[in-house]
Amino acid sequence: MKSSYLSLILLLLLPVLTFAQTKPLPRIAIAGLAIESSTFSPALTDEAAFHAKYAVDVFSTYPFMAADSPLRKKASWFPTIVGKSLPGGAVTRAAYESLVNQTLDSLKKHLPYDGLYFDIHGAMSVVGLDDPEGDFIVRIRKVIGNKTMISTSMDLHGNVSWRLAQNSDLITCYRMAPHEDAMQTKQRAVQNLIDRIESGKGKPAYKAYIAVPILLPGEKTSTRIEPGKSLYKQVAPAALQSGITDAAIWIGYAWADEPRNHAVVMVTGDDKQKVTHTAEQLAQSFWDVRNQFEFVAPTGTLTECLDKAIASPKHPFYISDSGDNPTAGGAGDATWTLTQILARPEFKAANGPSLLYASIPAPELIKSAIAAGVGNHVEGYAGAAVDNRFAPPVKLSGTVESIVSGDKDAEVEAVIKVGSAYVIITQKRKPYHKEIDFTRLGLNPRTADIVVVKIGYLEPELYAMRADWLLAITPGGVDQNIERLPYHRIQRPMFPLDKDMKDPDLKAKLVPLSDK
Ligand SMILES: [Zn+2]
Repeated sequence: MKSSYLSLILLLLLPVLTFAQTKPLPRIAIAGLAIESSTFSPALTDEAAFHAKYAVDVFSTYPFMAADSPLRKKASWFPTIVGKSLPGGAVTRAAYESLVNQTLDSLKKHLPYDGLYFDIHGAMSVVGLDDPEGDFIVRIRKVIGNKTMISTSMDLHGNVSWRLAQNSDLITCYRMAPHEDAMQTKQRAVQNLIDRIESGKGKPAYKAYIAVPILLPGEKTSTRIEPGKSLYKQVAPAALQSGITDAAIWIGYAWADEPRNHAVVMVTGDDKQKVTHTAEQLAQSFWDVRNQFEFVAPTGTLTECLDKAIASPKHPFYISDSGDNPTAGGAGDATWTLTQILARPEFKAANGPSLLYASIPAPELIKSAIAAGVGNHVEGYAGAAVDNRFAPPVKLSGTVESIVSGDKDAEVEAVIKVGSAYVIITQKRKPYHKEIDFTRLGLNPRTADIVVVKIGYLEPELYAMRADWLLAITPGGVDQNIERLPYHRIQRPMFPLDKDMKDPDLKAKLVPLSDK
């Protein structure tokens, strides 16, 4: 009797126990496009530039999602498309529509979802479309509905529009510039998403949003130096408080002319008072230090920088040709700086101070250089095929020093010696960030007198070998002197453009939840 009673209890419990063991894993999709693109550059970005990864290939983007990783085992994953482009000009409408529609088609195949990880940069510009990331997330919502929890992770140079904030349930960004914590940030976004789903807590109840009317170039807001360092140090402890899920400060992107381009603070969590108070504290801290942001290196006009470099006993003397930095969104083929350099009398003679110039796209001249051969004279025009606003194509007349094929970005590179300047010309634009980028062309950036690179702050290898360094404020698609950019559509007043502006209202606004 007793034993049959026990078996009855067990029999009744069995379905419960079995259900507990086979509780289905949460269904989580992954999608996202990343680029920062300048609307002040005439360059355009096409679909191929995104190097889109599809389906299971998407996992290779995230080391924390490797096949045997704990996070990977916590959900059934449905990766759609993740694309990441080098910075550049605005994305063509066709490229954007194609990538978005492919993402939506892929999402439709595995509905419904408990969660979606939205991996974006946040500073994409698309021809004829405002706030592309806001448009993208709204279109995703139309497919997946409003119940699904979306966790958005961004670059701190991205922009957070109100509709992006409303449609994201969790939202965060990097806390370091340079972005050494990029993967850590993405992992946090995914971990928070899973935690909220697994625990049954669901969407955080409060999202505080504060638009901070500040627009600064990245070259002034490194978190390696003050005041960015102390400001961003406040973020992690703020996010760790009980009742708070995450906290973030966006510097925003200065080279696009849209109402959404400005700094933003957001804090998410379940404790209304803490969420709003913490957001207000971070926003106030940012506003308080606004006048202290300086360029990461001493700056000057190109003439000032060249004068100092020529007179200096320190070599190699680096000069950043910052206005046309291709890794910030410049076309990379502006000729203004090179034209000024070649016009200087100091570099006219072959035995003048040695100067390396990296770099200028010149596909036609590459052909002529190949035809002439190394050691022979060549003549032709370089650059300004995309950005000719500041100077026309520059005439190079000199000796072919080397020709190298096979680089994935440049495809073919050649060095033309004009006077005492060694000018790197390329088939396609390419950033020069490493020592090997020079040495493979037979150039030595350690023994040269002056090295001029289309770049903003020096990347680590160049920084380590510089004897001295100046950041030249040159014209281009990413002019670092944002006060001379022709803004028409950003919100005003804006610091530092409107110097005498009053203190702004930095009260937190609560963003409606995505399913409200
Ligand atoms: Zn960034």
